[in-house]
Amino acid sequence: MSTDNNVVQLEFDYINNAREIMDNSEPEDEYIDDSDFTLYEYQMAAINTLGPDRDPRSLALGVGGEAGEVMEIIKKGFRPGKEVDVAHLKEEIGDVLWYLAVLADTYDLDLEEIALDNIDKLERRYANGS
Ligand SMILES: [Mg+2]
Repeated sequence: MSTDNNVVQLEFDYINNAREIMDNSEPEDEYIDDSDFTLYEYQMAAINTLGPDRDPRSLALGVGGEAGEVMEIIKKGFRPGKEVDVAHLKEEIGDVLWYLAVLADTYDLDLEEIALDNIDKLERRYANGS
């Protein structure tokens, strides 16, 4: 199996493990509580699905690869007579999020803090209508 296939297999395993954790979680689960599920909790759950390979290059390539899948869904959805497959789009956005969460953690970055800082930045940027 080539290195590319190994990366794809690892990605597949990670995502399936994440799904299994999400599907099997109980409401009182430490990480998964649908009532107030935070990005921090999501990031911790994502990390728990991580295999032995935590190479930032693989994770960064995963972000790009999954973002490409999002782009492809939108591209195909705008062809004549077609529409965006929203269920598939949702799945691929989840894949992008997983890679971002794990990549962020690799550099000790908190996904929730990243999200809040980004909103703060945008609110400051657009506060005066510019
Ligand atoms: Mg995908």
